[in-house]
Amino acid sequence: MLSSDEWRKRAVEAGVVRCPACDSLTVTMGACAVGTYTIYQEYLCEDCGYEFQAMFGLIGCVPRSNNEDNDA
Ligand SMILES: [Zn+2]
Repeated sequence: MLSSDEWRKRAVEAGVVRCPACDSLTVTMGACAVGTYTIYQEYLCEDCGYEFQAMFGLIGCVPRSNNEDNDA
């Protein structure tokens, strides 16, 4: 079983989510719980049945791409 830090490092480096228990790529996204500072995305591994959540944290704010400047 990967630790949270190891799992995160691999996910960021590879750009894919793998099961922390069996390293399978066959993971299905489940429900997503949005909080003020964090988002929890549920995953289910289709190979070993392990359920886990990815935790995303608030890191900043950016304008939406449709925030056009309408002064013209
Ligand atoms: Zn698995």
